[in-house]
Amino acid sequence: MTEKPMVLMPEDVQRLLGKDAQRNNIWAAKMVSDIVKTTLGPKGMDKMLVSPTGDIIVTNDGVTILNEMSIEHPAAKMMVEIAKTQETEVGDGTTTAVMLAGKLLENAERLLDKKIHPTVITKGYRLAAEKSQEILSEIALKITPKDEDVLKQIAMTAMTGKGAEDAKEKFADIIVKAVKQINDDGKIDLNDIKIEKSKGDGIDDTELIAGIVFDKEKLSHDMPSQVRNARIALIDFPLEIKNPEIDTKISISTPEQLHGFLMQEEKEIKNMVEKVKLSGANVIFCQKGIDDFAQYLFSKSRIYACRRVARSDMEKISKATGAKIVSNLNELTGMELGSAEIVEEIKHGEEIFTYVRGCSNPKALTILIKGGTGHVIDEIERAIKDGLGDVICSLKSGLVVPGGGAVEIELARRLREFGHSLSGREQLAVEEFASALEFIPTTLAENAGLDPIEILTELKSKHDSGERNAGINLFNNKVENVLQAKIIEPLKIKTQAINSATDVSIMILRIDDVIASSGKSSPSMPRGMPPGMGEY
Ligand code: ADP
Ligand code: MG
Repeated sequence: MTEKPMVLMPEDVQRLLGKDAQRNNIWAAKMVSDIVKTTLGPKGMDKMLVSPTGDIIVTNDGVTILNEMSIEHPAAKMMVEIAKTQETEVGDGTTTAVMLAGKLLENAERLLDKKIHPTVITKGYRLAAEKSQEILSEIALKITPKDEDVLKQIAMTAMTGKGAEDAKEKFADIIVKAVKQINDDGKIDLNDIKIEKSKGDGIDDTELIAGIVFDKEKLSHDMPSQVRNARIALIDFPLEIKNPEIDTKISISTPEQLHGFLMQEEKEIKNMVEKVKLSGANVIFCQKGIDDFAQYLFSKSRIYACRRVARSDMEKISKATGAKIVSNLNELTGMELGSAEIVEEIKHGEEIFTYVRGCSNPKALTILIKGGTGHVIDEIERAIKDGLGDVICSLKSGLVVPGGGAVEIELARRLREFGHSLSGREQLAVEEFASALEFIPTTLAENAGLDPIEILTELKSKHDSGERNAGINLFNNKVENVLQAKIIEPLKIKTQAINSATDVSIMILRIDDVIASSGKSSPSMPRGMPPGMGEY
């Protein structure tokens, strides 16, 4: 009788065990962190990303860089997730979060080298993260929607060093005005601020529109290009007779029948248009199609009409003008109409837009970004979104912290104190956690061409002597009170970054076995093991 060998897994499954698994994952996480590191801060560099089809993105934005790279290593993918979470939760601080996770893992490796067990490290990291949240809420400063200057400073800090640098005061002004306008008693929805982009002109011509701009032209040349005191109807069904969803067949055998049929159709269209006119509307935005004959009738009545307007725009126009979106013409009365000072068609170069502007107290509005080329506009859009995200989350929590590394240094100092109160080896992990936080100010310095060690020493000594707002001011390259230098960030950037960086580094540290089945289409096994892997 021959003995059959026992098989647990198919042959093509690759496995990394114990230290190999750990080191390989840490290596990958460090690689990801290294990629974004050089972009951190106002003096950070940009990256040029070229897609397989040759599209180019020039950016400084952590999450954009990581999203555009096709990262395959499983641990590296977890790092990318950190950036995505940070982006959705806060909208800024993606580089910081990823770098923190990378450094936590790098420092953990030092402890692993000292034969400290991963569970001890993860426990220490968890303690440190909890303590950090406590300290952060202690050192955070309160703001209210009335602190407009502080809000502008927050927006400017978010945009410093991005493509928006040259016009950041103007942008900060736009951002704060926009957010204040849509603030509904503390409920703020970023979706209520539409970002529309238009090539041509300079970035300085970017403007805030008290209303909605969208890329549709009026339906016919004969319609007015501008309607003042607009009374706007929003209709979400087709102003046509044919229902495109139902395939109908009509048999017509005599010319009279055809004539009768056409007359009937005309009558129905006329009826529809009459109802619209009766409501008093002089502008129609229809989410579906508009019949040619209806177009003609609207033109004759000097009504401005657009068809196939996107649902998202319809909703925003509704919020901006107070119009209700109607699904049945019988419902359309003067009550359902919205109002705006002006509705007009404007051409920018090749593009044609419809502007709905001059809305009184709009609950949705538009930031119209202008710039010379698509790449410039896209990078400005990312910067403005960072600014919007930061202002919104500062207002939501009402708490902010000093930037320029000040908060990280203060945290590190207090965490070390806390570490001394612990017995056991977790203390060492808390210590490494503290030094990971210091990686933010040292990188800010390094990216600005300053001596990181010198800066760190100066920062530490200032904080030791009680200057808790001392950070690097990269406007003048000095270590000083950064609140006075107007470098301010929302607290949430830091709490979120620390939370997700800790969670992911703990998750990665707890892995001691990577089992990867090499399905043909998914090369999920860590590729490109670093040289020397598995030799210890
Ligand atoms: P992230 O993707 O993490 O937001 P950024 O490139 O936007 O990365 O850099 C943010 C960091 O730059 C923060 O630590 C912030 O405090 C710092 N920072 C912003 N403006 C200044 C400044 N003028 N001087 C020093 N540090 C600054
Ligand atoms: Mg930022």
